[in-house]
Amino acid sequence: MPNVLIVEDNRSLASMARAIIEDIPGFQACVAASGAEAKQLIRDTKTPFTAALVDLNLPDAPNGEVVPVVQSFDIPVVVLTGFFGDELRNRMIELGVVDYVLKKNISAYDYASRLVERIHRNRSTQVLVVDDSPSAAAMLKRYLEIQCLNVLVCHNGQEALDCIREQPNIRLVLTDYNMPVLDGFDFIQQVRAKYAKDQLAIIGLSSSNDARLSARFLKSGANDFISKPFGYEELLCRVNQNLEYMDRIDEIRDAANRDYLTKLYNRRYFFSEAQLRHQQAQFQELPLSVAMLDIDHFKHINDSLGHDAGDTALKHLAALLQSAFPDDLIARFGGEEFCILSEQNAEHTFDRLDDFRRKLANNPVKENGYDITLSVSGGLSNGQDDSLDTLIKMADSKLYQAKESGRNRIVV
Ligand code: GH3
Ligand code: MG
Ligand code: MG
Repeated sequence: MPNVLIVEDNRSLASMARAIIEDIPGFQACVAASGAEAKQLIRDTKTPFTAALVDLNLPDAPNGEVVPVVQSFDIPVVVLTGFFGDELRNRMIELGVVDYVLKKNISAYDYASRLVERIHRNRSTQVLVVDDSPSAAAMLKRYLEIQCLNVLVCHNGQEALDCIREQPNIRLVLTDYNMPVLDGFDFIQQVRAKYAKDQLAIIGLSSSNDARLSARFLKSGANDFISKPFGYEELLCRVNQNLEYMDRIDEIRDAANRDYLTKLYNRRYFFSEAQLRHQQAQFQELPLSVAMLDIDHFKHINDSLGHDAGDTALKHLAALLQSAFPDDLIARFGGEEFCILSEQNAEHTFDRLDDFRRKLANNPVKENGYDITLSVSGGLSNGQDDSLDTLIKMADSKLYQAKESGRNRIVV
């Protein structure tokens, strides 16, 4: 669980900061009220801190002395201070703090919490720097590493194309224009033939003495550009903005692929993804099985306990399904009907389905003090020679047999 260190001597500000950090799903925070306490807390805490929010004016460290101390433990520092001064700010940026935030009002804390979340995500985000100047590339690398990004460096467009082919997880590219072998514009055009703007963000770096360069970058397919020379903070803002944009698109795409109630995949997504897996299984001659499940007498739950109880039961079943089939494609097909595509043979899938069926029947879910006991019937088909539609139809007719022969059973 990501853990954030808050170094703040003002108790009400410290508890506000803690509340805002712990509002991020899965995050926790620890508070130290002085430099000495911070040091002790870092030593005593086993899992490393994801980041620290640090006040510059503490009883035993009145001038930001705590910043290099926290940094010496490899913890990225976000300064939160009530004092604004160019000299202090520059000194902090030179020390390599992630950002310098003024505690003017509550929005400063919102900004800081978004930054902390960004730092956490950056730790698993890959970025590529493309610049033929070793010193420019080294400076960019340093700036990006302050933000905890994983940085790769290439020295021309061709090298960068090869690198993107080998490292499909690269999320963001920062590229210069003027480079040997393949320049920035041609490089971007070739990348865009394969990756859309919401899959791979590109920021062009153009020298400010030619205003046309930025427009050419954007026309070639860059998401954004930065004029050289630039400072650390401008780079931070642009990089964050572009990474946030892609994360939001991913979230929207994911929400569109899921059923709102159970958060399982929906039928539309199931078919597009199942088609790919089916083709792959045929191509590689791997096993494949399809299961159709339907809750037994579900109408009775709605009729006797109400629609909300029915919804609770659906969510309960979905969560159990997800933990029973973590590697398979599971979708809510319709009301109380679910489909699973498993890249395993029918015997194996049958055993797991039957375990799941028993577990469901033996684990009632509580709603308004009532125990709701659920059971499912299921049909199972397999074989990669049949089309996906045929597999689903076969599983459906087995499901019908399971219902006819008494429910709460799986038929192969
Ligand atoms: P069987 O064992 O034959 O499958 O009987 P059943 O009652 O489960 O089947 P039936 O198809 O008659 O009823 C399904 C019910 O599921 C009817 C519908 O109102 C309910 N339902 C569908 N979607 C939802 C939902 O999202 N929430 C709730 N609470 N009920 C739903
Ligand atoms: Mg039913
Ligand atoms: Mg039904």
